Amino acid sequence: MKKHLIAAGATVLMGAASAQAEGISITPVGATATAFGAAQNFSGQVAVDIKSAGDSGKHGSVGMVDFMPGARTAWHTHPVGQLLIVTEGKGWVQEDGRPAREIKSGDVVWIEAGIKHWHGAASNTRMSHLAIAYMQDGKSADWKELVSDEQYNAR
Ligand code: MN
Repeated sequence: MKKHLIAAGATVLMGAASAQAEGISITPVGATATAFGAAQNFSGQVAVDIKSAGDSGKHGSVGMVDFMPGARTAWHTHPVGQLLIVTEGKGWVQEDGRPAREIKSGDVVWIEAGIKHWHGAASNTRMSHLAIAYMQDGKSADWKELVSDEQYNAR
């Protein structure tokens, strides 16, 4: 009986070791705590859930970003570009020197490398998007100044 239990234990350990060597990684929901957008890079209330598993974070940054009404990113650029997939609500994206454009749930937005821009919620409605930015030299964004209330309200 004792011998049988030891054998069973060894099987469990081997099972754990082989699971680590698998080619697919799963990060369970809640494994990474929700963060709040840093005050130098965001205006208003912004919650960020980093979505990463295995080595994926080496190649790009993927985040689910929830903007409360009026909240937005600072002006910034992406070294290799950024894809936004709007999953909830309504908001705005603006390229420097051009009019802001409305974005809604279901829209997909591509921001080319080096383009100065911001994105955020509408003034009266929240907006959530999945943000996928590819990495260059370990960086996926270059942050600049905040979007002032005057700039936000001028849309
Ligand atoms: Mn961006």
